[in-house]
Amino acid sequence: MTNHAENKSPRSATASTSDFTVDVCLKEPKRIESIPQRTYYTYNDTVEGQVKLKVANPVSVRNIQVKLAGVSETRLSQNVEVLTSNLRREVEKLRHQLLYDLVTVFPPQNVANVSKNDKFTLIPGEYTYDFALKIPFLSHCGDEETKKHSNVYTSPYEAQDREKLECRRCETRHLEEPLPPCMDVNRIRETARITYQLKVSVHRPGMLTTTTRAIVPLMFRPPGPTLSLFRNSPFMEEVSTVRTLKARLQGEPVPLKRERFREMFSSTTKRQTVDMRLKLLYKPTLVPYQNNVQLMLQTSVNSDMKPPPVLYLKSIEVVLVQKLVIYTQTFIQMVEQDQRLLKSTETRLLSMPCATKMKEETGKFKSEIDLTESLKDISLDQFTPSFRTCNVMLSHKLRVVVNVSGIEDSWFSAGESMKIEVPVALSGELVTEDELTEMIGESYIDSPLYHIHSTEEEQLPEYEQ
Ligand SMILES: [Zn+2]
Repeated sequence: MTNHAENKSPRSATASTSDFTVDVCLKEPKRIESIPQRTYYTYNDTVEGQVKLKVANPVSVRNIQVKLAGVSETRLSQNVEVLTSNLRREVEKLRHQLLYDLVTVFPPQNVANVSKNDKFTLIPGEYTYDFALKIPFLSHCGDEETKKHSNVYTSPYEAQDREKLECRRCETRHLEEPLPPCMDVNRIRETARITYQLKVSVHRPGMLTTTTRAIVPLMFRPPGPTLSLFRNSPFMEEVSTVRTLKARLQGEPVPLKRERFREMFSSTTKRQTVDMRLKLLYKPTLVPYQNNVQLMLQTSVNSDMKPPPVLYLKSIEVVLVQKLVIYTQTFIQMVEQDQRLLKSTETRLLSMPCATKMKEETGKFKSEIDLTESLKDISLDQFTPSFRTCNVMLSHKLRVVVNVSGIEDSWFSAGESMKIEVPVALSGELVTEDELTEMIGESYIDSPLYHIHSTEEEQLPEYEQ
């Protein structure tokens, strides 16, 4: 479920028959200063390009249309009880039209206006047609206004296609939400797929003719918040449960294996005990390339204690949990997938003298060691941002597991593990205020999307087996 924004997405497609070849070629999306590397489309982008038709033999054409389409498709299969105890496997599919717009590039509007013909003959030669279609902010199926601003509605020329659009609105549960990012989860029992396409169709006259189509898949991804929105979102705080470790003091000999074994089963050995817990400070909305988290190991030891106890950091693991909820007409399924962001198993000495004294000594914890530096290599830009649409919801959790031991080697010293898991939202990359306004309009900047707390848990319907 990753969104490889750095991958080059295709920009062209070709389809041909024995009589003609149709090529479609897209321009790069408009440059956004804040995200110069982007190759994907986002809100309010115009999908622009050119259709080239090479005709080898005279061909009769009804019209040539360019369509922009986005769909959210889900499929679930579940056991349903029939007649007391029999189970039957049932499959449900659901499809939401998130985006639909089109422009007729041939015949040209001035010809169509004066002609009653429903077919036009193209003689051998090359023809090119430019097109431009705009991607809105909200999904069509959940927002009447958005739909009515599409070319299908604003251009009287495309009136004939309105009815088709209506037919696609056969589902009843639509959410008024921003367009979701591309996504593809395809498993045996669950499918959730969000796709965007640009499609060129050469329609032929007559009942039994086939339509020739050239299709370019489009990458789509929402932008992140602005820097000030990100900075103004306060860090949240979470602590792990407390773990206690027997630690050697600096200068004390390292216990032999035999002694360690004995210590496991004896309570008479006197060792310094250290209480520890993890503290995670995190932004409720994680933004790629930003400082989203700080991680501290708090201990019951005074930072100026002499000699200090010896503690080893054995491992740090950070996981992004992707929690996907898939809906069909009557089924709901939740799928969780772990994406490892970091796994470090290099043992290193934690230096007590480098610990900072805690300002307010909360109970037994006197000092904390900053582990934030260990998280600096985490990258989030390749993951699909959190979103919600009519039949799919993707939310995230961040899990951090840290293991600390009093002994450097791993023989008979599993160490103590501390774990924190918090709900978060994941966004796209930062943009400037002007860029965001241009993409989503001023009225939406205050929308919950950009104040994101983690995707609302309480709005989740009960998960049914
Ligand atoms: Zn819908």
